[in-house]
Amino acid sequence: MITFDNTSKSYGGTSAIAGLNLNIARGELVVLIGPSGSGKSTALKMINRMVDHDGGRILLDGKEIYSFNVRDLRRRMGYAIQSVGLFPHWTVERNIATVPQLLGWSAERIEARVTELLTLFAMDPVQYRTRLPHQLSGGQQQRVGVARALAADPDVLLMDEPFGALDPVTRAALQLELKRVHQASGKTIVLVTHDIDEALLLATRIVLLREGRIVQIGTPLELLSAP
Ligand code: ADP
Ligand code: ADP
Repeated sequence: MITFDNTSKSYGGTSAIAGLNLNIARGELVVLIGPSGSGKSTALKMINRMVDHDGGRILLDGKEIYSFNVRDLRRRMGYAIQSVGLFPHWTVERNIATVPQLLGWSAERIEARVTELLTLFAMDPVQYRTRLPHQLSGGQQQRVGVARALAADPDVLLMDEPFGALDPVTRAALQLELKRVHQASGKTIVLVTHDIDEALLLATRIVLLREGRIVQIGTPLELLSAP
């Protein structure tokens, strides 16, 4: 579904991604892992063109991503990041509904979807839908960030340390929730982390990056049994 074909990206003179070759099939949950600065975020952001590649190709369903309209591409992909980035003056409901509103969903459909997502993430819709982000705990904000990424039921979810900076209990709960969502929906998910336990728990395949290149790739079992 997503193919990096000898893809490269430099910032000024600094190479961030150097000749990346990777095929992500529909329904996979691929974890990009590696030390800070290894190119994980850059690889992820190139998929929805938050960052543009400058060498090789990136294909979505066989077509170079530069041939898609950027807005269409981003709406097709949910994006969730560690810093969450909720709009501070918007309610939980409006934050979650950002993309559905852009897509012109009806008020009833949006309301039903927000109720469904808050319930999925164990947040009582009656209590939470009209709250503002600062009236939520960090873990709840992060849930809302992930709910927002899922709202329009995108084919692809891109997640950059979505559970970073959470206490271990909340983190574990959200990891399990993501695993359930993935198994139930068959969505294609690309997740950046530097937490090896998270990678082993969630990934169908783990891609280990170093200095913009793949140094190891395989299922959790394959990597655990590698010499
Ligand atoms: P990671 O997500 O693994 O920490 P990044 O993709 O953020 O790695 O960064 C890869 C390399 O590219 C690093 O050397 C980083 O300093 C550099 N880099 C990332 N973003 C930018 C940017 N916007 N401008 C300049 N250099 C960048
Ligand atoms: P992450 O690992 O989640 O990308 P960083 O702290 O590395 O977090 O980067 C935060 C932001 O700063 C990102 O948007 C990234 O593209 C940008 N960035 C990272 N490294 C550099 C750099 N060397 N110069 C300029 N911008 C950078």
